[in-house]
Amino acid sequence: MIKKVLVANRGEIAMRIFRTCRVMRIPTVAIYTHVDRGALHVRYADAAYCISEDENDTSYLKPDLILKIARQTGAAIHPGYGFLSENADFARQCEEAGVIFIGPGPDIIARMGIKTEARKIMEAAGVPIVPGTKEPVNSLEEAQTIASAIGYPVMLKALAGGGGKGMRLVHSGEELAGAFRMSRSEAANAFGNDAIYIEKYIENPHHIEVQVLGDKYGNIIHLYERECSIQRRNQKVIEESPSPFVKPETREKMLAVAVEACKKIGYYSAGTLEFMIDKDQNFYFLEMNTRLQVEHPVTEECTDVDIVREMILIAAGNRLPYKQEDIIFRGAAIECRIYAEDPENNFMPSPGVIKVREAPAGRNVRLDSSAYAGFEVSLHYDPMIAKLSTWGSTREQAISNMNRALLEYKILGIKTTIPFHLRIMQNEAFLKGIYDTTFIEKVFDKEDLMRRRNCDPTIAVIAAALKHYEEEKEAAARATTLPLVGESLWKYYGKLKMTANNY
Ligand code: ADP
Ligand code: ADP
Ligand code: MG
Repeated sequence: MIKKVLVANRGEIAMRIFRTCRVMRIPTVAIYTHVDRGALHVRYADAAYCISEDENDTSYLKPDLILKIARQTGAAIHPGYGFLSENADFARQCEEAGVIFIGPGPDIIARMGIKTEARKIMEAAGVPIVPGTKEPVNSLEEAQTIASAIGYPVMLKALAGGGGKGMRLVHSGEELAGAFRMSRSEAANAFGNDAIYIEKYIENPHHIEVQVLGDKYGNIIHLYERECSIQRRNQKVIEESPSPFVKPETREKMLAVAVEACKKIGYYSAGTLEFMIDKDQNFYFLEMNTRLQVEHPVTEECTDVDIVREMILIAAGNRLPYKQEDIIFRGAAIECRIYAEDPENNFMPSPGVIKVREAPAGRNVRLDSSAYAGFEVSLHYDPMIAKLSTWGSTREQAISNMNRALLEYKILGIKTTIPFHLRIMQNEAFLKGIYDTTFIEKVFDKEDLMRRRNCDPTIAVIAAALKHYEEEKEAAARATTLPLVGESLWKYYGKLKMTANNY
């Protein structure tokens, strides 16, 4: 049924999907913009189509053109995450054009895309939701009345929200007017829809989500949970499975509720129900993501299910080959999102050419990446350049493996969040599994600041010298012909010639 797959995406997720296609012996089609013409996903696919009109056109949001290419090539479309993945109109256009969209149906995408709708649907399906409104809040007066009734602190959230945008924590009535304005304008800018609603702010919550997989015949299973509470600005940076926080009886309840709700709404394909859990293990539905999730590798590592493969087979009309009891959960897995950002400078974006790249490998290490030495990380797209995941038979082993893999991982030419992840892997609270969504801002950042302040002057001098050395190395790498400066650069000289062909 599916003879070819076009991935309407770029970066690591395009690579991720193409890899499964290669395993399944399904030919692949890439799309790319002018700035991405050297990208790895373009080289990896069997065919590639440029979708830019000119050199300045950086958009991947070209539904009509992408659909045309899919029809011409006879390909089904996998949207990945972001971009068109939660665009119901696009899924509907595909359906109407007779092109298979590898994801759920357009109606469910549309309904889950409006968070207040999703809240209503889930509540009706018997899922506890975060207390708050189920309709948009239209005026400041209305917001004031509702917020007082719910009780501060509250969260103002965009109906069309995603990527942590348009969200404002409000501690008191005095803060409300300003926050209301800000939230609205941020939502308007990000989603072209300024509608907002109000939720009770769950104090010190955990973000725990359930991965589900369903076919078009009403069969639904879960693939357990992921703990995603290591966040910065309401955006996930580290995820793990299983959650070190959730108690067995809570887990059981959450998983059952998620599967039951998906059965009731007739969900198919891969999907994720996100929950907030408070310190007393009460859980509340947050939102549903009707797509492949960034952090799906940790689930794959522990359940041995290839989620992309199942999405393709389900879209083709196959029945789910698993029953719930077939899913055996083993060990623990952890994922670090590697961003082209400078952790020593407030996570400022760090675009530029990757000069040197040494990828971690070895036992129980998985790297989902689109980076290679010579690739230019551009400001036009998401700064996430790779996801590093490790598995272990226990959480401790998964973390040890991550520590080792992060130490092996070398990227020069741009700044990355690798050093930040290394520090988290050595953080005492994290090692104990004691953290909630406020961990980075309230605990880690403060400790990190102390670390810098308390730094022994001798160590500071050594650090400065090392920094200087790294900069020199980078400068040398940047030069077209390498100057001979002793033997310290020998190993990078070879790497300079490395292209994506030896990736
Ligand atoms: P996940 O749980 O899959 O990580 P995220 O909320 O992190 O979900 O969003 C996944 C991706 O969706 C992001 O990496 C980003 O590319 C994209 N995305 C979603 N909404 C937005 C938005 N408003 N602005 C920018 N990117 C967005
Ligand atoms: P997005 O669509 O941007 O992913 P979510 O609704 O999934 O938005 O929320 C993202 C994150 O914001 C959550 O993981 C959590 O850290 C924080 N958050 C959202 N709503 C609440 C709430 N009501 N109480 C506490 N934290 C919240
Ligand atoms: Mg979310």
